[in-house]
Amino acid sequence: MPLNKSESWSSQNCPGCGASLRDSESCQTIFESFLALEYADPGYGEVHFLTVACFMIQHGCYSDEALAWIEQKLRLNLEQGVPAMQICRQAAKETGQGVRLWKITRPPDAPQLPKVAWSMTIIDVKAGYHDAASYCALVTEWARRTLKEMSPLLVQK
Ligand SMILES: [Zn+2]
Repeated sequence: MPLNKSESWSSQNCPGCGASLRDSESCQTIFESFLALEYADPGYGEVHFLTVACFMIQHGCYSDEALAWIEQKLRLNLEQGVPAMQICRQAAKETGQGVRLWKITRPPDAPQLPKVAWSMTIIDVKAGYHDAASYCALVTEWARRTLKEMSPLLVQK
């Protein structure tokens, strides 16, 4: 998912999630390296659903409908213990059917989302993991915090 090109890159912080970046580093390239890792190694792939959800939420990639939908999915996984694999399968089915009802990707003319001062970003996962187990633990923690902190992004009905 490419970041909004109209936003200019700051040398210090990601314009999407506010993470402090080093030179030539971007959340997008880190995300792509994580995905490669998850596809190559099932030990890392276990948290694939959470990695994608957190990245998309923190970078404003989801439409309002998708934000409400993914929040439910995160709750199912993190609060009710529904396995991520099961949610993935269910999600694939639902998005397959739901494409005609609403778009997952935030349309360019959608209202701008409020900025959230995330307590944890993809940079923290990258800095902290050293194997599959620590990777999964960090991504899960990232997802817990994202779920807790994403409420300003949800449209109040
Ligand atoms: Zn970012």
